[in-house]
Amino acid sequence: MRPRTRLFFAETPTNPYLRVIDLERMADLARRHGILTVVDSTFATPINLRPLEHGIDLVIHSASKYLGGHNDLLGGAVVGSRELIAPIEEARGVMGGISSPADAYLLLRGLKTLALRVARHNENGQRVAEFLAQHPAVRRVHYPGLPSHPDHAIARRQMSGFGGVVSMEIEGDMARAARFVDLLRLPYIGPTLGGVESIVEQPAALFSLDPDERAEAGLVDNLVRYALGVEDADDLIADLRQALDRLLQEG
Ligand SMILES: *Cc1c(COP(=O)(O)O)cnc(C)c1O
Repeated sequence: MRPRTRLFFAETPTNPYLRVIDLERMADLARRHGILTVVDSTFATPINLRPLEHGIDLVIHSASKYLGGHNDLLGGAVVGSRELIAPIEEARGVMGGISSPADAYLLLRGLKTLALRVARHNENGQRVAEFLAQHPAVRRVHYPGLPSHPDHAIARRQMSGFGGVVSMEIEGDMARAARFVDLLRLPYIGPTLGGVESIVEQPAALFSLDPDERAEAGLVDNLVRYALGVEDADDLIADLRQALDRLLQEG
């Protein structure tokens, strides 16, 4: 916060380390200094977190992720008071960014199963994170539902579920993490998340950043982000187990 700060913007949980922002603290600090607060709540979905209830002014979602839920549309949403939304609506009218009827239809259809899908994402996230945390080929697991996560206490207080994204650091270097991704059989490899099918990515490999840029972004080379779909948790774990055990055998 600087003397000219007008807006606080946060993502929670964050990508890819799933850090959880204490929204009441953020809103309180902002209110005392006349600062507007905006939270990107895409990873949490409105099922797991409702930032407006914690005093945040505006909430944005990429509807391309969990709200649509099937990796087949692009969309977004902004939620807040009528007063704050009015100028955004006005700007949209001027600039012309609107959904196609087909995207709007797919989004409405996807929303009907949002609660069911998120319940499964939460269950898969917790079970997979707990499995990974005890596997010797995994150095570290980042998931707010694990007591070892630095923001576990905030997440428990603020959220009703911890979501379907789990990040992990594989024992070894960039090549070993890449090998792990290639050994997985169930997930697609790609940069998106939030759909019914599982998608995995190694951020350091996917975004062609040089080592300095990766360090600046805080991305470790052996990090793998796994966005769990709604498949059966036992199948997902069996697939992870075969890939991780193979890594250990390959040494
Ligand atoms: C994907 C994503 C966005 C961007 O959304 P698009 O619908 O792809 O434009 C913004 N914030 C978060 C947290 C995301 O995951």
